[in-house]
Amino acid sequence: MKAVWAIDRLRTDTEREQAVDFVADLGCNMLVTNSATTEMVARAHKRNIQIIATVFPYSDDDFENAHPHSLQKMREFEHKVSDIISEQSWLRLHGESYRWQSFVLPRTLLCFEHPESQAELKKRVERALDIADGIALDGFGFANYYACFCDRCETLRKEASAQPPDLSDIEIMGRVSMQTLTDVHRLLYDHAKSIDPNAIVTNHVWPHFLPDEYIGAKYKLDYCTQTISWFYPPEWRLERVEMEAAEMKRLENPEINRFVPFIGIHDLPGFVRTPERLAREIEIALKYGDGNLVISRLNTLQKYPELARAVRDSLKK
Ligand SMILES: [Zn+2]
Repeated sequence: MKAVWAIDRLRTDTEREQAVDFVADLGCNMLVTNSATTEMVARAHKRNIQIIATVFPYSDDDFENAHPHSLQKMREFEHKVSDIISEQSWLRLHGESYRWQSFVLPRTLLCFEHPESQAELKKRVERALDIADGIALDGFGFANYYACFCDRCETLRKEASAQPPDLSDIEIMGRVSMQTLTDVHRLLYDHAKSIDPNAIVTNHVWPHFLPDEYIGAKYKLDYCTQTISWFYPPEWRLERVEMEAAEMKRLENPEINRFVPFIGIHDLPGFVRTPERLAREIEIALKYGDGNLVISRLNTLQKYPELARAVRDSLKK
């Protein structure tokens, strides 16, 4: 897969058509979007592009009202921090403070251990596959990046601590949380394939999972997209970009998923990368991703023709 990830909503038919044509002209074969329509998919197929619809685990008002106990719970102080930072601008929380992610995710996520959440997520997968060629799971993690503290998850940890091997509380928490995340990926992968065996199931490993930042290798998917270069400056040294890509490739188990390098480039003034730098990152991505890569975001490439040119030239090589 050579994919462009469009984070922003594509609001009109014209914007969606332009996006498809733009991605095809870059030499890519996949567009990940939250704005898929049947018309867009039809146009994409004419240009040999597959449309992948994003699926998120965020709560909405209906779910929250119907199943308040099926939401992720953080520790009390983390909820307090969340209340404070939800009033801060996105830029202040991330780009301007050198943070990949804020201290906690200021969003409400479904707890993956509840049957009501699992049913809701399966429904979201079905809706996505009604239209698109595949799904991309995004946001599948914990709001505090390590665990949920709802009653059900607390019980799971208690049960695990009563079983051998004899582990510390912190080890058990990491282990149970990891099981939760690998289970929900397996559940949605199987569900997608039961609807359409040819559906592509991919993701972006985000938010981080602090007990194991390389957890992506364990997620059952066709393609597991993992960050080798993040959106905000200062950019990692290219040696680190290559080190991350090499480590993710080393951990890859082709029976579980194929590793796909993810390159994030933001469009804000002062955040934009040079075409030379982007070309080097793409070179590293193609080397360790066996020719697969994801570049995000679409609108950065649309806004800066020199970056689009760097992608096109790099993919032609
Ligand atoms: Zn929970």
